[in-house]
Amino acid sequence: MVNLRVPGPTPCPEDILLAGAQQMINHRGPEFSDLIQRVHSGLQKVFQTENQIALLTSSGTGAMEAAIVNTLSPGDRILMVTVGVFGDRFCQIAETYGLEIIKPDFPYGTFAKPEVVEETLSKDPSIKAVAATHNETSTGVTNDLEALGSVVRRFDKLLLVDAISSLGCLPLKTDTWGCDVVMTASQKGFMVPPGLAFVSVSPKAIEASKSNKTPSCRCRRP
Ligand SMILES: *Cc1c(COP(=O)(O)O)cnc(C)c1O
Repeated sequence: MVNLRVPGPTPCPEDILLAGAQQMINHRGPEFSDLIQRVHSGLQKVFQTENQIALLTSSGTGAMEAAIVNTLSPGDRILMVTVGVFGDRFCQIAETYGLEIIKPDFPYGTFAKPEVVEETLSKDPSIKAVAATHNETSTGVTNDLEALGSVVRRFDKLLLVDAISSLGCLPLKTDTWGCDVVMTASQKGFMVPPGLAFVSVSPKAIEASKSNKTPSCRCRRP
């Protein structure tokens, strides 16, 4: 038996494995529509949110990319709260799409100090969004997302949260803490196979997506 010693994929319980062995249903039929509605309302409970949740057929990294692509435009300034490898990956994605990165120096192994985030935001009113890792898997450090959220809310910026290794494992109150976009993936706290990502999107983030200029395909139905 394979015993993976990685943060994810986590081992799948047997009933999950057996569910994967069921026969197909029509993915454009009413059974799927019922299923997706049940999944959506179940996810809202886990995310502790009333926001819409997008289901993506991607890894967690794909969801991080989606958060950036759909809310921000090239040249926008974004404060990256990174304390490790996954936070740095978020920075790389933001750079790829032409955002201007403001990155306070938090050494690996430490947590992000909310007062530093506050000071950075008060010095630079042109910052449009803050991206933060909730639990930095590479160092095992959990940031105080509630405190970070309260700072970001006071400055009325968009808050994008990588909750890939925290959601379902640690408390995360999406609405109460003011998290605009929260992304996670299936293979960690959810204990199901990799390949699905879930992204909650606040009304403020949906507004931002209507005017953002990063190129992406917005296909209309034929
Ligand atoms: C695992 C992980 C990712 C990457 O997720 P993938 O599904 O492997 O793309 C990103 N951020 C954090 C905090 C993670 O733990």
